[in-house]
Amino acid sequence: MSKGIISASEMERYGYCPLSWWLGRSGVEAEGSEVDSGLVKHREIGDSLQTLLFEESRSRETSSTLLAVVGYIALLVLAALLILWRVGTFEGNIVLIVSLISMLIATYLLYRLLQSTERIDQLRDNYRLGDGDIEAPGGLSDRSPVLKSEKHNLAGRPDYILHEDGIRLPVEVKTGRRPSAPFFSHVLQTGAYCLLIEEATGTPPPEGQLRYGLESEPHTVEWEPKLKAIVLEKLGEMNDALVGRSEVHRNHNRPGKCRNCSRRQGCPERLDRPPAGDNT
Ligand code: SF4
Repeated sequence: MSKGIISASEMERYGYCPLSWWLGRSGVEAEGSEVDSGLVKHREIGDSLQTLLFEESRSRETSSTLLAVVGYIALLVLAALLILWRVGTFEGNIVLIVSLISMLIATYLLYRLLQSTERIDQLRDNYRLGDGDIEAPGGLSDRSPVLKSEKHNLAGRPDYILHEDGIRLPVEVKTGRRPSAPFFSHVLQTGAYCLLIEEATGTPPPEGQLRYGLESEPHTVEWEPKLKAIVLEKLGEMNDALVGRSEVHRNHNRPGKCRNCSRRQGCPERLDRPPAGDNT
C-alpha cells in the first residue's frame, strides 16, 4: 500500500477503530443508512453556512454602494448650489431633482442593508457563531483550502475556521444528536485540525470546537499538551502502519461498536459474527 498523506478525517476513523481506518485505506467502502443520512445532513449544514456567507458578502457590497451613492449625492448638492448661484435657477433645480432621486436610491439601499444585517444577526444567533469571521468553509465542499503538515504527513480541512482577534479556531461539525461529552474519535479529529493550524500559522490555537449540528451549543476541545501528545502518538502509529512497520487490528472488545461500524461487512475481526458452525 502506498504511504499517502493521512487526512484528519482518517484520524477520526482511526480513533473509532484502527481496523476501520485500515479497511478504508484498503478499499473497503463504508456503507449503511447512517453514512448516507450523514452526507445529506452535512450538505444541509454547508448550505446553511453558505447562506450566511452570501448574506454577509451582499451586505458588504450594499454598504460600499451606499457609501458611494452618499458621496455622489453630496457632490450633486454642492454642484446644485454652485449652479444656482453662478448659472441659473432652472439648471440648479434640475441638479437638485437628480440629487433627490439619488437620495431615494440611497434610502432603498439603507433599507436593504438594515434587512440584511437583521438576517445576519439572526443566522449568527441561530448558529451560535459569535462575531468572529468565518474562514475557509467553502460550504463544507472541496473548494476550501487544505491545511498540510509535511512533518506529520497530515492534511485536513476543518468545516470552518473562526477567526477573531488574530486567533484561529478550527471547527468540526458533526451530524447526530449532541452527546453530553464529545466522542474520542471526534476529539482526535479536532485535535488534528488544531495541530494543522499550529503548523500553518506558527501559533497554537487555544482550542478547537466540536459541534453536533449548527444549532446546538459547541463543545470546546482544549488544545492542551495531553491532547497534542495523543494526536502525535496516533499519527505515529498510522504512519508506521503505512510503511509496514506495524500491523493494524481491532483495539477493543465491544460488539456494539462493531454493530454500528460502517465497515463491518468487510471486516475480518468484527465481534458480532455468529459463532463458528452456527448457520442460523
Ligand atoms: S467491525 Fe469492529 S473490528 Fe471491524 S473495523 Fe468495525 S469496529 Fe473495527
